[in-house]
Amino acid sequence: MLRALLLAPPGAGKGTQGRRLAEIYGVPHLATGDLLRQHVAEGTALGAEAKAYMDRGELVPDKIVTSLILNRLTGGKPLRGFILDGFPRSLKQAEDSYEWGQGRRLTFQRVISLAVDRDELVRRLLERGRQSGRTDDTEETIRHRLEVYEATTAPLLDFYRQRGILAEVDGTGSVEEVTDRIRAALDPVVDAG
Ligand code: ADP
Repeated sequence: MLRALLLAPPGAGKGTQGRRLAEIYGVPHLATGDLLRQHVAEGTALGAEAKAYMDRGELVPDKIVTSLILNRLTGGKPLRGFILDGFPRSLKQAEDSYEWGQGRRLTFQRVISLAVDRDELVRRLLERGRQSGRTDDTEETIRHRLEVYEATTAPLLDFYRQRGILAEVDGTGSVEEVTDRIRAALDPVVDAG
């Protein structure tokens, strides 16, 4: 069983790697961005509220995202394994999910950060915007999302480094190369439970 989190700026490859890792380790891939976009597509009240933030490149308020993801993790009975992508993204979310996990003995075993330089991130996101038409992949919103990442999400690297579970991985090169580097960091913590 594996409980891991991908923590990286927009465009670093969390979604691509998250899907591959979920397959490899046989655990669900939970991406907050996908869950939120699903709500938007279904026209729920939560989706309508979230969309305004997403289109501006702002974080959706902690309360909405935390309950969305923790409900998902708990469901009927708690998921024992998962790859999380895009959550937590603020210190408040990190603290709340740490507390949640401690109470259930389900804290994260590893946090993978993916390092990719800024020019490459912008290039990848603009390309994704052209291909997928994601409404937040425009030049101005991308710039703002990268600023939000630096200000609000990057401090989480220290939060997990202090807890001894951070693994910093080079996110450049081919998709397969990056997956191999991540596996080298995850294989040692996978357990039979
Ligand atoms: P990216 O990592 O490329 O920005 P995501 O699909 O992970 O793409 O997220 C898209 C948007 O969804 C974010 O810009 C933000 O508005 C919202 N979002 C996703 N995860 C969270 C989170 N944990 N907390 C707050 N907002 C979030």
